[in-house]
Amino acid sequence: MLLDIAYPPVCLNCDAPTAAPDVLCANCFHRLRPITAPLCPVLGLPFEVSLGPDMLSAEAIADPPPFSRARSAVVYNEVARTLVSRLKYGDRPELARFCARLMAGAGHELWPGNPILVPVPLHPTRQRERRYNQSAELAQALGKYTGLAVDTDLVRRIRKTRQQVGLSGDGRQRNVAGAFAVHPDMLLRSKGRRVVLVDDVYTTGATTKAVTRVLLKGGAESVDVMSFARVVIGTELPI
Ligand SMILES: [Zn+2]
Repeated sequence: MLLDIAYPPVCLNCDAPTAAPDVLCANCFHRLRPITAPLCPVLGLPFEVSLGPDMLSAEAIADPPPFSRARSAVVYNEVARTLVSRLKYGDRPELARFCARLMAGAGHELWPGNPILVPVPLHPTRQRERRYNQSAELAQALGKYTGLAVDTDLVRRIRKTRQQVGLSGDGRQRNVAGAFAVHPDMLLRSKGRRVVLVDDVYTTGATTKAVTRVLLKGGAESVDVMSFARVVIGTELPI
């Protein structure tokens, strides 16, 4: 109460005053681009026009991913980038609640069947530097909205990798190869259940594919991927 008076709620993106905490102002909200159908059933890429329910994107046909389905709440544009970088580097874990609310709706196809939500892990050293793992914050918040169990410890990052920023697709793949391992009790903890891997941004998918492979090897029945934002080439799609 006292804190609310001292710090009235502001927009998560532009700091304009808002009626409630942890939301965007109307102006910034309208600049977010939700990813909605029609989309590629595997990669979740938005299509400009519907090509039928089973039509895959050219990317999914050319390079089939190890995960079953990827979904994202919004296109990675300027507003999404500000939200993610504040969540990631700005010590603002409360942003996860806003992002997870949009993810809960966008990922509705992934929730039936009681899957476990598993965040993409950070290396322990990096987590200490940033004080928290943004993907774990997203997974926890998503767990509250969907009622699904969260296991923040099912996959670990066993090798410190350099930031993926600035690396090409191949470079990203090499950078994360061998970087992850599943918990020694994975089979006990997951009981062969489906896993939904939670991440902040889906870029080339190199990281999520590497984590998916170790989860499948460790005994997960299948893996889906849920991210807040996704890089879409030619972002100014009329969607
Ligand atoms: Zn704003």
